[in-house]
Amino acid sequence: MSIRRPASKPTPPVAVPGLPPVPAGLGLASERARQRMVDALRAAGIRDEGVLAAMNRVPRHQFIDAGLASRAYEDVALPIGHGQTISKPSTVARMIELLVAPIPAERRAQARVLEVGTGCGYQAAVLAAVFGEVISIERVRGLHEAARTHLRPMRLPNLRLVFGDGRLGAPTAAPFDAVIVAAAGDEIPEPLLTQMAVPSRLLAPIEASGRQALHLVERTARETWQLTVLDSVRFVPLRAGTS
Ligand code: SAH
Repeated sequence: MSIRRPASKPTPPVAVPGLPPVPAGLGLASERARQRMVDALRAAGIRDEGVLAAMNRVPRHQFIDAGLASRAYEDVALPIGHGQTISKPSTVARMIELLVAPIPAERRAQARVLEVGTGCGYQAAVLAAVFGEVISIERVRGLHEAARTHLRPMRLPNLRLVFGDGRLGAPTAAPFDAVIVAAAGDEIPEPLLTQMAVPSRLLAPIEASGRQALHLVERTARETWQLTVLDSVRFVPLRAGTS
């Protein structure tokens, strides 16, 4: 088997907070697959070394069914049960890159992020490798518990999982330096906007007339939120309440 080397310069070692080093000789096949995934992300335009390092460290195959694990490092969304999907790696990387872009590398260890839609917990683990603190909310109890199981071996002390309706945010933990919504609603829930720090960014897919687009909100002052509509995307629906 040939191992493709990065075309450009290799990723310099970046300290990833919270993640233990992968033991030498263990999980080599998945490490190589993950490195190829990161090469592809780089080729697709992801530039942030912190984000690329986090994508390189989180074992995506451990967040999905064993039957699908061989596809874990393809750039595809995969089913995670309860009618939900894990977002494709390029979407996770692009959204997190947009989210952290204004935060200088030396301030990221103090930055706090709120994720709505934990799903299987994969994106939450990547966020925990980029941000100082992560709070992730899931409304489906079965998924909330599955995420807990997937994340336990990674021992991420800076990640808190919450069962509940993420449209309400996490008022007691606010304000957040970044907010990321992993499911498409028809508007951005107001509590998420008021729980944004000044300054901060929020990313959410919004659906209108059957089409979804990624929305970027920048809170630039106490009473100022600036909206930019980005590319079209495909996410599962943002739903009310819990189940
Ligand atoms: N980030 C996830 C993607 C999961 S898909 C991952 O890495 O796997 C989106 C998730 O959002 C689903 O699990 C869905 O149940 C959840 N969701 C939808 N509406 C929600 C809400 N109001 N509050 C919290 N989670 C919600």
